[in-house]
Amino acid sequence: MSKTLIIGAGGVGTVVAHKVAQNHETFGDILLASRTQAKCDAISDAIGTRYGNKKLQTAPVDADQVPELVRLFRSFQPELVINVALPYQDLTIMDACLEARVNYLDTANYEPKDEAKFEYKWQWAYQDKFKAAGLTAILGCGFDPGVTSIFTAYAAKHYFSEMHYLDIVDCNAGDHGKAFATNFNPEINIREVTQKGRFWENGQWVTTEPHEIHQALTYPGIGPKESYVIYHEELESLVKNFPTLKRARFWMTFGQEYLTHLRVIQNIGMARIDPILYNGVEIVPIQFLKAVLPDPGELGENYTGETSIGCRIQGLDKAGKEISYYVYNNCKHQDAYRETGAQGVSYTTGVPAMIGAMMFMKGIWRKPGVYNVEELDPDPFMEQLKKQGLPWHEIFNEDLEV
Ligand code: NDP
Repeated sequence: MSKTLIIGAGGVGTVVAHKVAQNHETFGDILLASRTQAKCDAISDAIGTRYGNKKLQTAPVDADQVPELVRLFRSFQPELVINVALPYQDLTIMDACLEARVNYLDTANYEPKDEAKFEYKWQWAYQDKFKAAGLTAILGCGFDPGVTSIFTAYAAKHYFSEMHYLDIVDCNAGDHGKAFATNFNPEINIREVTQKGRFWENGQWVTTEPHEIHQALTYPGIGPKESYVIYHEELESLVKNFPTLKRARFWMTFGQEYLTHLRVIQNIGMARIDPILYNGVEIVPIQFLKAVLPDPGELGENYTGETSIGCRIQGLDKAGKEISYYVYNNCKHQDAYRETGAQGVSYTTGVPAMIGAMMFMKGIWRKPGVYNVEELDPDPFMEQLKKQGLPWHEIFNEDLEV
């Protein structure tokens, strides 16, 4: 009997737990572990009520502690761990996987706590160790990174002989009714969107001021939305794995209100990640801010509107003729909430994590070593996206606006 371990009981963990439970014949016994066991229990109860099947097992774990993880892995003996805790825990969980011989999947690349910087180099350094141990590690299997990387691999496999221009476009046209809230972990989200912009052009990285490049882009079913070039982690692996790309950029929509709040947060020092002394106690301002902001996991009930995320690609088709291609998914926050109790951003991350795990459990993506998802066969994954709640659509040879 196979066994699956999920670590992290936030918004994304909630969705992964629901989708894994829906597909329990693939995943076998399921254990949900996180820092706060009460959150795991609440998710397990909701799943028990909703699907009438047996609840998940739950356990507390501090995923910063390798020995604690190893003890949990050895007692439960999972085949795969789905890491949907925070990027800070990636390396400790990978270390524990090597020690207890467990395969690994995550949705976000490693970030050190004391430096707002994400890079694959730390996780790519595990390549030889995972290979030698005969274990698979699948990196970045959410929506972006994740589905956007698989969309790109699918385009390369079926339509392009050479991809030249890749623009990943991420629009959240949802309204949660709050003056300011982030759609996933506030600390990680604010670190990501306040950093300098960066994109790939003619063999090198070009750095911009934060949000310097912007224009309105039109999203299917939504319309035009101001979109900003930011640095996003999948660019690093995509330009390496698809070296014909002359330019690769990532665009995200932000409302004016959101940007104003962000600017104020930065200007008053609340985005700082270094500890300060407050009443004799050391606190990290951005962690304090997280504690007072709305919990992204609680936004679902009143969240209306939808997300639209996709890839706009230009280059040469299999016959060497110029083509343009746009592949995207739209996801309604209310549909996500009705199915899992979580909002659309958690849903679009958690569903692909479950599908990636399914690809592993079925032996389709089982390959010793450390891989970004675009290095694995996109076809069976794309098929599952349609079945598991994230249908995608294609547009050929229309103006891509970029
Ligand atoms: P949340 O903050 O809602 O959830 C994180 C969970 O991890 C919480 O349950 C938290 O526990 C738990 N956790 C944190 N630290 C530890 C630890 N040391 N040991 C054990 N558990 C811990 O985040 P999200 O669910 O929004 O995001 C989860 C992951 O998904 C993040 O890595 C995020 O970057 C990634 N993500 C990826 C996206 C993609 O498209 N690829 C998009 C969105 C998110 P507690 O409840 O006690 O705080």
